[in-house]
Amino acid sequence: MHVNEFYQLISKLEKVVSGKWLVVGIFLITCHLSLTTPINAQTTTPYTVQIGDTWRALALRHSVSADLLHNLNPSLNPQRQPIIGSSLYLPDTPIQTGRLTHLEGVPTLHYLANRVPYELTIPIPSTPILLPSADQIQELPNNIQILQLSHTPAIPGQAFAFRAILNHATTLNVLLETTTLDPLPFDTFTNGTFAVGLRGVGAFYPTGAQEISIYHADGTRWSQPLLFSAGDWDFQEITFTGAAAAIDNQSIADERARLFQIWLQALDQPLFHAEFQTPIVDIVEYTSGYGARRSYDGGVTYRTYHEGVDFAAYKGTEVSATADGIVVVAEPLYVRGGAVIINHGLGIYSGYYHLSEVNVNAGDVVTRGQRIGGVGTTGLSTGNHLHWDFLVTETWVGADKWVERGMGCWVLEGLGRSCD
Ligand SMILES: [Zn+2]
Repeated sequence: MHVNEFYQLISKLEKVVSGKWLVVGIFLITCHLSLTTPINAQTTTPYTVQIGDTWRALALRHSVSADLLHNLNPSLNPQRQPIIGSSLYLPDTPIQTGRLTHLEGVPTLHYLANRVPYELTIPIPSTPILLPSADQIQELPNNIQILQLSHTPAIPGQAFAFRAILNHATTLNVLLETTTLDPLPFDTFTNGTFAVGLRGVGAFYPTGAQEISIYHADGTRWSQPLLFSAGDWDFQEITFTGAAAAIDNQSIADERARLFQIWLQALDQPLFHAEFQTPIVDIVEYTSGYGARRSYDGGVTYRTYHEGVDFAAYKGTEVSATADGIVVVAEPLYVRGGAVIINHGLGIYSGYYHLSEVNVNAGDVVTRGQRIGGVGTTGLSTGNHLHWDFLVTETWVGADKWVERGMGCWVLEGLGRSCD
């Protein structure tokens, strides 16, 4: 083979090889286009679903079709709205703003439909229209401009809240619904067009996708699935001995019934003006969290749970008010011993039990951090400790979580009030 022939061969080979690479290159580009062009997005981002994030709202917010969202999330049921608190993938497209309005609610159309003097039906599209607005696109009942939840997912044993800005002042009928339990209504409070709803959810509330529903005066219902994820509970076996073993169940029931008469009263104004705080500083040990499952005297089922938070501390250690409020109970009780209960308004109550001394009287107005008593072991108690409980809508919830989440300020701001 001459050198020239060799170079000619190499040149041919190069053409063949480059031709092949060209084909491969075109193939790859075609694959890339066929994958990316219909999706119209280079990458996707995991996102936690918020209230009002219907398929339609998310598609409009990202300028893509609902079909594309379903393709990005093949494991989700397209017939069911996204579950609040669950995760889905959204395209990395620019976010659009606006307000989704159902035309049935536009007054001029109602007016026209009702004023036309002969039989004529004006076709009203069932799909909502997007009006210009700087708000995040949500799909909500027309009277609600903006709706937020205190946290997602929701967790049994914690207070759950919504806050809304309304188009016009009205009462809201909002419920938590499951397939197995009676619905839990929110206590709703308004200040003009500001609205806040509070709901205590017990530690035995079912986990999984439940529903949050808004009922209108005409009986129609807006609803979206809401995820309740499991709390992290301790399990405790308790055996009563001595005086505690002889405890009188009727007295326990009587005391509870009497306190619930107090707890079910919800003042429609907040008495607090700042964030709630832990009522004890000098503790020996955090002994038992809210929600710990309990079985008694060797029982195998955990039928009850701890309704408050326990702090072991030396006798007399200062106990202070978690927030501003009015003292509604300040006396020795059979089970709870030396007891102080404070009404904070909006159906929120805090309780402080087994106190060795009580430093306030029923009817006193107290401020956050004010001394109300000293740690003791009075009532049904096995050692010096503070049992601190917290009720929202007549339901015990974890007080520590209420403080951690900054729920006090979140609620005040939701009512258009300042938080000190
Ligand atoms: Zn306790």
